[in-house]
Parts: sequence; structure tokens; C-alpha cells
Amino acid sequence: MNLIFDLDGTLIDSRLRLYHLFQQLVPASKLSHESYWAFKQDKVSNENILASEFGFDAAAIERFVADWLERIEAPEFLALDKNFPCMHEALDRLSKRARLHVCTARQHLQPAVDQLDRLGLLPYFDSVMVTEQSRGKEELIASVSSLGPQDWILGDTGKDIQVGQALGIKTCAVLSGFLSEKSLRPYGPDLILPAAADFRLLDDLG
Ligand SMILES: [Mg+2]
Repeated sequence: MNLIFDLDGTLIDSRLRLYHLFQQLVPASKLSHESYWAFKQDKVSNENILASEFGFDAAAIERFVADWLERIEAPEFLALDKNFPCMHEALDRLSKRARLHVCTARQHLQPAVDQLDRLGLLPYFDSVMVTEQSRGKEELIASVSSLGPQDWILGDTGKDIQVGQALGIKTCAVLSGFLSEKSLRPYGPDLILPAAADFRLLDDLG
């Protein structure tokens, strides 16, 4: 069995990184961490926050997006990411029963691998797949050997659920990341959990 984990918001808590970068790029912002994430959980994009709350025009938004992509995976920002509670125990348990993989839409492979190593998560995984802005998650996951309907994808966005559905594997949405249950439910995941660390294989339960 294969379990495919999204990275940001699923395996690791990257909320602080994204909030701090937003605040750095929008000095006028007085949004608290909580109010920024309330927007995000309701599927309000950075672009819409900038237009509605800060009066950014199209050119200013374009600059923001370019700066965001340039800085979001810089070492000083990646250093803000943390492990979720109980993730080590969950991955230790699951890795004895299934092959675990990471699949993320990050721009760069090596910083993602280095970060997983720093957080002590790398040894649990058979592979780390990064789209690097050139390949889709579907294409990457389709290359996992013996992928089939018994396998699962776990992710915190609608996109993760759509990828799993397109590949014919089971889908688990987690509420530890970027979207609320209200935002995720319409995608029709097979399962919704508070966090990936709550995931259990069926014969774990007994
Ligand atoms: Mg994510």
C-alpha cells in the first residue's frame, strides 16, 4: 500500500512562514496571524486580500506574486516551519505498514528534502516528489510503483483531493492546513480528519 502526503499544511505546519512573508511584503498590513488564516481558510487568495483590504492594483499584485514566489522557499522562511504534534509517532506507525511518499507543489526539490531531513521526517519516506513548476502532481504520483485503488492521498487543499480522484486512489482531506472543513467538503474527499497524524489504516483500529 502507498500513502502519498502533501507537504505544506499536511506533513508540516507552514502557516507561520506564509503569514510572516505576507506581512513582510505588505508593510501596511495589521492583520493578525489568526485573521490572515481566517481569510485563507475561507479560500480567499492573497490576491483578493490585497485588492479588497489594501487597495492593491493589478501591477502591485503582480509584483507581490513575483516577490512571493522568489522568497517563499528561502532558507530564513523555511526555518519557520514546524512539525505538527504526534507526526513522528504517526509516520513511524504507518511506515511499518505502507510505503510513504511526499508529493508537493514546491518550486525546488533540494530545499524540500533538506527541510524534511532537518525536521527528522525524511527517513519515513520512500520518495519525495516535487513538481518544481514543470510537472503536475498527477503525473508524479502516477509513477509510484503499484499505485492502485487501495492507496491514499492526504492533503489540505481541494487540488490534492482532485489529484487523488483523477488517479483513482482514496482521498483524505486534513484540516491542519490551508482550508476549513466547509471549504474542503465540496470536493468530496473519502475522509476528512483534523490532521494527518490522525490517519489510521483499517487494521490499526482493532
Ligand atoms: Mg498543502
